Amino acid sequence: MKEYFNAADIFGENVFNDTVMQERLPKKVYQKLKKTIKEGRELDLEMADIIAHEMKEWAIEQGATHYTHWFQPLTGVTAEKHDSFITSPMENGKVLMSFSGKELIKGEPDASSFPSGGLRATFEARGYTAWDCTSFAFVRHDAAGATLCIPTAFCSYTGEALDQKTPLLRSMEAINKQGLRLLRLFGNETATRITPSVGAEQEYFIVDKEKYMKRKDLIFTGRTLFGVMPPKGQEMDDHYFGAIPPRIAAYMKDVNEELWKLGVPAKTQHNEVAPAQHELAPIYEEANIAIDHNQLIMEVLKKTAAKHGLKCLLHEKPFVGVNGSGKHNNWSLVTDDGMNLLDPGVSPYQNIQFLMILACILKAVDIHADLLRESAADVGNDHRLGANEAPPAIISVFLGEQLQDVVAQLLSTGTATHSLEGGMLTTGVKTLPDFEKDATDRNRTSPFAFTGNKFEFRMVGAQDSVSAANVVLNTIVAEAFSEACDELEKAEDFNSAVHNLIKRYFSEHQRIIFNGNGYSEEWVKEAEHRGLPNIKSMVDAIPALITEKAVKLFEKFGVFTRTELESRAEILYETYAKEINIEARAMIDIASKHIIPAVIKYITSLANSINAVKAACDADISCQTQLLTECSALLSASKSALTKLEDAVEKGCPMCEGKAQAEFYRNTVMKAMEELRTPIDKLEMLVDKEMWPMPSYSDLIFEV
Ligand code: ADP
Ligand code: MG
Repeated sequence: MKEYFNAADIFGENVFNDTVMQERLPKKVYQKLKKTIKEGRELDLEMADIIAHEMKEWAIEQGATHYTHWFQPLTGVTAEKHDSFITSPMENGKVLMSFSGKELIKGEPDASSFPSGGLRATFEARGYTAWDCTSFAFVRHDAAGATLCIPTAFCSYTGEALDQKTPLLRSMEAINKQGLRLLRLFGNETATRITPSVGAEQEYFIVDKEKYMKRKDLIFTGRTLFGVMPPKGQEMDDHYFGAIPPRIAAYMKDVNEELWKLGVPAKTQHNEVAPAQHELAPIYEEANIAIDHNQLIMEVLKKTAAKHGLKCLLHEKPFVGVNGSGKHNNWSLVTDDGMNLLDPGVSPYQNIQFLMILACILKAVDIHADLLRESAADVGNDHRLGANEAPPAIISVFLGEQLQDVVAQLLSTGTATHSLEGGMLTTGVKTLPDFEKDATDRNRTSPFAFTGNKFEFRMVGAQDSVSAANVVLNTIVAEAFSEACDELEKAEDFNSAVHNLIKRYFSEHQRIIFNGNGYSEEWVKEAEHRGLPNIKSMVDAIPALITEKAVKLFEKFGVFTRTELESRAEILYETYAKEINIEARAMIDIASKHIIPAVIKYITSLANSINAVKAACDADISCQTQLLTECSALLSASKSALTKLEDAVEKGCPMCEGKAQAEFYRNTVMKAMEELRTPIDKLEMLVDKEMWPMPSYSDLIFEV
């Protein structure tokens, strides 16, 4: 095996990308495919047959024996069903390898066990998958051999979206259309497409596989359900950006190699704040590709860990007492004539267009803060948001000093005449200032921060798909663009209409701007005072999906129908209750079969020691006695908490799936879980380490 490799040589070698297509496809077919992709139309079957054939030949050269429609159901992970390329045996007993256009374009997995929120009646269990030809097919190598993976959308037979990709593609279409409308008003005639760009920074933890295998909680739920931080947690902040340990470095090298081969532009890696926590950031790409690639990043992180005797934890909060993991979703809007619409630009003309777009984004985020919050809700993320380590559960926008100043001037005097730093006075359209690309401060506590030429939405959970967040962002901004266009298109004097609209939006929605410390208690109060929603848990976030406001928004832009939204809300409630149910059961199992027996053994050994020492002499046995008393009290507290938890689960389990059940799990079951954890965590600090039935936090995170 080659020790060293050149990233440029291997990049994309497992991808049926543009270069390969250009090389392999007949010129006419290649050009037609490009056109289809650009215009977002459907492939015709004749063309699909030719593409499928070449794709298959190429995949077989890469060692592939199977193909799969690779899709993203609402479980958060990707799904696939593998078919081999072989045809039924011929008379001579041999088979051919075949792959038709029909098989490329459309698959029909029996999808009855994927969540559908009632969209797919059980008698019609079929769903279908359709190739998203804007995302390249790739070959993946694993223990099962090599498989040609075809990125696809997943729908019910009647066309309702059952996945993350379909609404995303619809939302990209919406923002493209409304964005172009706005650009035309500003005199841009050259752009023909606007695409959201996304760069999703991924955080994760790495632990030793052998130790992991001794933690049933990690195995069943992805997080520790018991455990306490050792005296040295992350207080010293010495892990952040520290030297990467050799074992992790070797792992990262493999991760990068694998990702580059798959055409994923992995770029940055470093240690994160918590011990054993790391981050990987790719270079940004078109939203739907970036989202597919984020799924691949998660897959490759997990798969590669196994090769190194490690385990990658993507849960949002694997350990209590140190920071959890999230994803920073960097988002901007890019035109095919080379403009980033979130770049403030250098001329007043660009500035005013930028300010209009910025004002639209502020308005969108203010009006739909509840939806944005919901888009980042998953069961694990409830442990992060608002817990003083990640952004608070309150949505606000950070603009930075320079932009903030421009907004303030606009609001106080009606015109902004200068911008900070450059100090330039402006000319140009209606006295709006020039400003340079933001070089100012960073605010790490804001959930939605402007960072120079993009917004960074920092709420998404580490194991969640970033799709939902981008669906919401694209659609709410499309709505704001559309409403701005409605007004501007009928204006007689465009310049003053734009100016007035920018001012109006800033003034109506300024409450969403917050540049201070988002982790502080004062902000929680201030936000309440401003009337901003503070939605503390996933269960409380879900209703945002089905308000009249949301239905109107998503239906108007063809992103979701009411039925699709209702089904998604159902799925989320179900997911919540199911996941907490698994956690509760895992706790019951671990506490009753492992921890309580271990504590009894320890208590018995203390009692034996007391008796033995007593019999031998009259030495001081107060230490053993005190320990014995303390442990016995905690043991009995644990036992009664265990019984309470068992009762709660017994009640919750048979309840009808839906909102009430999810609420019961959050209010009653979660509470019972905490009550069981408290005495057990105290016991872990008292009981002989040799007798504790699983590796401690310290074993897990300081000894990788
Ligand atoms: P920061 O220091 O603000 O975190 P980086 O340059 O390290 O900025 O980028 C962080 C992430 O943001 C990377 O994944 C990067 O590719 C992505 N990114 C940079 N510019 C854009 C953009 N215009 N649109 C979307 N994502 C972007
Ligand atoms: Mg960042």
